[in-house]
Amino acid sequence: MRAAVWHGYKDLRIEEKPVPVPHAGQVLIRVDWAGICGTDRHEYEGPNFIPVKKPHRLTGRVAPLTIGHEFSGRIEALGEGVTGWNVGDRVTANGSLTCGKCEACRSGRYNICQKLGFLGVGDDGAFADYVVVEAAKLFAIPDGVDQRSAAVAEPLACGIHATHLLGDIREKDVVIIGPGIIGIGAFFGAKYAGAGRILVSGVGEYRRELIEKYGGTYVDVSKVDLEEYVASWTDGRLADVVYECLGSEKTLDQAIRISKPGAKIMVMGVFGKKPVVDMNTLQEAERVLYTSQAHVNEIAEALDYMKEGKIIADELITREVTLDTLVEDGFEYLIKHGPEQIKVLINISGEC
Ligand SMILES: [Zn+2]
Ligand SMILES: [Zn+2]
Repeated sequence: MRAAVWHGYKDLRIEEKPVPVPHAGQVLIRVDWAGICGTDRHEYEGPNFIPVKKPHRLTGRVAPLTIGHEFSGRIEALGEGVTGWNVGDRVTANGSLTCGKCEACRSGRYNICQKLGFLGVGDDGAFADYVVVEAAKLFAIPDGVDQRSAAVAEPLACGIHATHLLGDIREKDVVIIGPGIIGIGAFFGAKYAGAGRILVSGVGEYRRELIEKYGGTYVDVSKVDLEEYVASWTDGRLADVVYECLGSEKTLDQAIRISKPGAKIMVMGVFGKKPVVDMNTLQEAERVLYTSQAHVNEIAEALDYMKEGKIIADELITREVTLDTLVEDGFEYLIKHGPEQIKVLINISGEC
């Protein structure tokens, strides 16, 4: 089979590898579509999470390994003891790798497992003709949702999960900083959790049409000052809830300053550098800082929203590439045109 194997920075090779064998509790999946995630881009451009010298804390793997964790496919073979699934079932999966033994895993919060890893980082991932996944992490793709759309469910699940952590946000004024796929997932999460008004901020006009179509307000912060805008948008009350989806000190600071006393601030961005956090402004009015890590069962909710027509995945897919030309057409293209793209999908099987 073909696989996109990471050997080092900007050294991603499309190689022939043997089809993997599912062990007990696992299934082998023929991959139809896979999505390029921000973390895949990190692997390509750095900083990487793929272990190079020190073996992965859960799997013991080191590079080279196959990247990718967002995908849809069909079950090709079942490992020993797998029940409830059949060959040919249409599936997507939570790509987390978890120990199953720690307190977090035992309580169902396996997204914060002490030894947490991900497909494509701690073990061979989905940018390949076949991938092996634990049966317990599978989600059936409902009738009415196609394989291409289902490949977008995983990143959307991150925003839905983060929203669950915030508790009741009905009727609240929400601001989302960063309109990438994670911010858009947060937008849908907040919208369908009953948030009042939702403002999405980003650079450039690329997302305006999409956000407005779904009833949100979009602000281009290359032209407008976000703090001034939020102050007037809320008649000086400021935001009830802010999602920070970029991972920079500047936007985290902004998130704190545009939030009202008692507000909830959800940090979803991945920080390349340790930020200085304005603890006094947080504390002076009991603003609460939340963080969110991936998701648990929220892929099912994302798939349901697609089935109900509440999320049209096609509107989020801005480019399609093939596995054979993934480096040039996918990663190198994204380096040049990243902000314009929401989700780039790889058409792997070419069959559906
Ligand atoms: Zn992802
Ligand atoms: Zn665990």
